[in-house]
Amino acid sequence: MARIELVNLAHAYKANPSQPSDYALLPMTMTWDDGGAYALLGPSGCGKTTLLNIISGLVPPSQGKVLFDGKDVTKLPTESRNIAQVFQFPVIYDTMTVRENLAFPLKNRGWKNADIKKRVDQIAEILELTPDLNHRASGLTADAKQKISLGRGLVRPDVAAVLFDEPLTVIDPHLKWLLRRKLKEIHHELKLSLIYVTHDQIEALTFADQVVVMTQGEVVQVGSAQALFEEPEHTFVGYFIGNPGMNLLPCTVAHQLARIPGVDQPLPVPAGIPIGPASSNVRLGIRPEYVGCSKEKTDGALPAQLNTVRNLGTHWLAVCQLGDYKIAAKLHQQPGVSGDTVWLQFPPARTLYYVNDKRAL
Ligand code: ADP
Ligand code: MG
Repeated sequence: MARIELVNLAHAYKANPSQPSDYALLPMTMTWDDGGAYALLGPSGCGKTTLLNIISGLVPPSQGKVLFDGKDVTKLPTESRNIAQVFQFPVIYDTMTVRENLAFPLKNRGWKNADIKKRVDQIAEILELTPDLNHRASGLTADAKQKISLGRGLVRPDVAAVLFDEPLTVIDPHLKWLLRRKLKEIHHELKLSLIYVTHDQIEALTFADQVVVMTQGEVVQVGSAQALFEEPEHTFVGYFIGNPGMNLLPCTVAHQLARIPGVDQPLPVPAGIPIGPASSNVRLGIRPEYVGCSKEKTDGALPAQLNTVRNLGTHWLAVCQLGDYKIAAKLHQQPGVSGDTVWLQFPPARTLYYVNDKRAL
C-alpha cells in the first residue's frame, strides 16, 4: 500500500487548452494517505473517472505528477503501478470458476497454491461467495459477477491501492447496501487503501472516512461526512450534500449586517468576515435542518410566508417565501398551513457566508 500524492495535476483531453472549461481536471495538489478509505464524490461528468484513470496509469495527465510513496510514477504504465481497479461493469472470465477468477491475480504473480487457496477462501468468505466457489462464473447473476470483480480487486494484499469506479451501479438496491457495508468492513480487516468513486452521496458518506467532493473538474472539499454537512467550504458542497441541500440566499453585507433582498430586517453578521463591498457575490447558507420556524414572533426572527408543508414521516418539510427567495426548513412539528405568516430563526453558529462560492465565515 502507498501514500498517493498528486502534485499540480491537471488534465485536458483536447490539445492546447486555454480556458478552465477546456479541462476535465483543473490543477490540483492533494495527498491520499496510506490505508485510507476515500470516496470521490461528484455529479456525472465532473472528472472522477479521469482522476482515477490518471492514478492507475490508464490516462497520462497533461500536466503535473503522481507520486506513490514519494516515487514519481507519472510515466509508468498501469502494470508497473501495482494498482487494482474495479470498473462499473463486471470484468471476469466467464469460462473459469469463481475460485479460478479470484485466484487469477495471485497466480499471475507466482503465489504458491496453498497461499492462493487461503487468500481466496478469505475473500470469498467476506463477499459471501463461498457457496459459489466451484461454479462457473458464466452461470451466475449480474450481482454475483460484480462481487467476483470486487473480489479480484481486493485479493492482492500488496497493492498500492484499490480503485473502484462506481462498482455498485449494476447491483440491486438491497445488495448495494450490504456490499457498501462489506467494503467498509474489508477496509478495516484487510487494511487496504481504497478510493471509491460515486455520484451517490449516501454511498460516499457510508463508505468513506474522507470524502473528496468534485465539481466541474475541481476538488472543492475533502472532509468527513460531518464536516461536509456542518461546514461546507463551497456552495456546491452545501447544495450537493443533504436532502434537500443547503439554502443559499444572495445577500448584501455591510456594517456587520446582512440584508436579504425583499426582507426589511437585517441579520447581524459576526465581526471578522473578510467580505468586500456590498456589490460582491455574497450568499448566506443555512441547512434546512437548522432553520427555526415558529408562528410566534421571536427576537431576531425574519417574517416569511409558508408556501407548502409536507409530513415526511420523520419530519415536516416546509418551504417558505422569505423576501425574494424560497427557503426549506426541516421541522419536528407542523409549523402551520399554507399561507400562514411564520417567523424564521437562523442560529448564528449555523449561518455561513460565501463569497464567490467559497466560504468566508
Ligand atoms: P465522471 O467520471 O465524473 O462522470 P469523466 O472523468 O468521465 O467524469 O469526464 C470528465 C469530462 O471529460 C467530461 O466532460 C467528459 O465528457 C470528458 N471526457 C471523458 N473522457 C474523455 C475522452 N476519452 N475524450 C474526451 N473527453 C473525455
Ligand atoms: Mg465516471
